[in-house]
Amino acid sequence: MRSTLKVNWDSNLPIYAISQSDLKKKDIHSLLIDVDGTLVNRKSNMIPKDVKNWIIESKKLFSLYLISNNPSKKRISKIAKELNLRYKYNASKPRKKVTLNVIKEIGKEPKNIAIIGDRIFTDIIVGNRCNIKTILVKRLNKDGLPIKFNLILKIEKLISYFLK
Ligand SMILES: [Mg+2]
Repeated sequence: MRSTLKVNWDSNLPIYAISQSDLKKKDIHSLLIDVDGTLVNRKSNMIPKDVKNWIIESKKLFSLYLISNNPSKKRISKIAKELNLRYKYNASKPRKKVTLNVIKEIGKEPKNIAIIGDRIFTDIIVGNRCNIKTILVKRLNKDGLPIKFNLILKIEKLISYFLK
């Protein structure tokens, strides 16, 4: 279990505070980005301004792709359109199929691709199972700010510890 639970970069930051030059230094060319909790609060349709600006800057440097487990095509396509990004909804992470298809579509080496997400048991595990890099970010609240205490992540980290 150790390898699938490993986080390459546990940033402890919201996505919009991730430095693009640090991503470049890690030789990352493409980013697969989770939606709920990572780009927007899962109960909100509003994309925070900081997130929008981060995406606009990142688009100049990386190829981006949204990959969400949310079954609502309506929700995910609306967010993807607003950011003008390709997307998959209902992606069933940590199952590999959809993520592998996206990696194929991007057409870059897995070592140059990273997944960014707020959950270990979906985003991080699927990233490791597909041999791409994994970046854990802080979940966003309704105001677009990182939540201070993430009980789910605490539990996931605790379980990860015992599975090692
Ligand atoms: Mg998420």
